[in-house]
Amino acid sequence: MNISEQELQIFSRHLILKEFNEKLFNDLQKKKITIVGLGGIGCPAAQYLVAAGIKILKLIDGDLIQKTNLNRQILYSVYDIGKSKAKTAKKKLHGTNPECKIDTISTHIDSKNINKYLYNSSLVIDATDNWKSMILINQYCVDKSIPLVSSSTVGFDSQITLFNNLSTEHLCLQCIFPNKKEPNLARCDSIGVLGTATGMAGLIVAQKTINFFLEKKLDNIMTMINVKTLKIDNLKIKKNVKCQYLKKK
Ligand SMILES: [Zn+2]
Repeated sequence: MNISEQELQIFSRHLILKEFNEKLFNDLQKKKITIVGLGGIGCPAAQYLVAAGIKILKLIDGDLIQKTNLNRQILYSVYDIGKSKAKTAKKKLHGTNPECKIDTISTHIDSKNINKYLYNSSLVIDATDNWKSMILINQYCVDKSIPLVSSSTVGFDSQITLFNNLSTEHLCLQCIFPNKKEPNLARCDSIGVLGTATGMAGLIVAQKTINFFLEKKLDNIMTMINVKTLKIDNLKIKKNVKCQYLKKK
């Protein structure tokens, strides 16, 4: 995959950075990123990943755009109400780089279709807002050793974690949150959410993804951010030896 003349112009400002020589940029462009959930976190994550040069994307969301989404789901406008989130997002992202290859899947992920949609991903971003999808995606990515960025926001608080999912070293979402069923947590539709909170979470998701591909280092860090205080904590996380997804050797 070569960088076209048009892309050289679009990305000229970060190709100047020593971290982004043409070879590394070319490697980044070959990564296949799957984003599940194109809401408050998925929208900015997708936008900034495309703006960083990510070129092959799969966008999965079964929802249609509603007016209540517009305070945080920045790829959509009032003119998009009632349209598919995945298809509308694709159109907007093509506005940044028309050469992106974007697949859209306007359905929700479930245990029957997850393999079909996630199997060939270089990395999966879970930006869904329900525990059932989160543990399903986590289990799948552990089984297939696919790196996973998991994120969530409620109110002013977000957490973002990249799980390497190496076959030789277990550490997953259920190691940290060992709930089997939907925990009784506050949700955005009941307690509210500020657009800048999901926005910053989406940006951190995008940055962790880029760091992962550029630096190829193990992360094992949960980033927690409160946008009201602007306090960011990076917590070192460890494998839970009682995790139900820990593969028996
Ligand atoms: Zn685990």
